[in-house]
Amino acid sequence: MFAFQDNDTDAQVPALGKAVFPVDRIPNWGAMRSSAEWDRPYEAMTEADFVPVPSYDLAQLTIPISSLTNPIIEDNIHLITAKLFYSTRYFAAYDLDADEFTGNHAGVDLKLPLGTPVRVIGGGIVREAGDGGALGTYVMVEHRLKNGEKFFSIYGHLRSMKVRAGDAVGAGQVIGEVGFTGISTGPHLHLQVDRDDGSAKHMPFTPLQPLTRNEAAKWSVNPITFIQEHVSASW
Ligand SMILES: [Zn+2]
Repeated sequence: MFAFQDNDTDAQVPALGKAVFPVDRIPNWGAMRSSAEWDRPYEAMTEADFVPVPSYDLAQLTIPISSLTNPIIEDNIHLITAKLFYSTRYFAAYDLDADEFTGNHAGVDLKLPLGTPVRVIGGGIVREAGDGGALGTYVMVEHRLKNGEKFFSIYGHLRSMKVRAGDAVGAGQVIGEVGFTGISTGPHLHLQVDRDDGSAKHMPFTPLQPLTRNEAAKWSVNPITFIQEHVSASW
């Protein structure tokens, strides 16, 4: 696969618009009991399998999974679904119970079925689309805020891409499908938002050298927070 490059920074970048989440609903993972249910691709799921996207609430996401599943009670299913969906938090260790800034993961991993349509979080221009090594097939979109500030949203481990470098995209446009290309233990979306001076497209997990909050904040932002901050933008 080729990595298409387009470094024409003078091109007109569409407005960010009202930011959206990369998916509009998720499977109710906590309610699924068999691997046959669990492993279905997006196309094989039915309306009854989906629930609204849960909020990114760290107080709930860091409740130990063992205390929610031993035994599983009905009231905890939504918490289990949320923990599984936000399976790796911002700069967290790869551990279902890990809090932010306990590792080097420069984004958020969202557990989703193979083939789930991935929507771009805001308007912008596709700057890179191709093979990102450990990140697998990925799309990187440049966004401009009204004040001129520039950010890049990155979507990794895709099964397929629907856009190429240089394409203008609008908030919510489908840019690819969830996959497990690159280094990945199963289908999920790696979502990352970098600042303009971001030095890496994807920082590999290096357990012995976790970044400090300040180091992380120099080149990346929490993608969920970024979306929430721009969800009601009016330009
Ligand atoms: Zn990731």
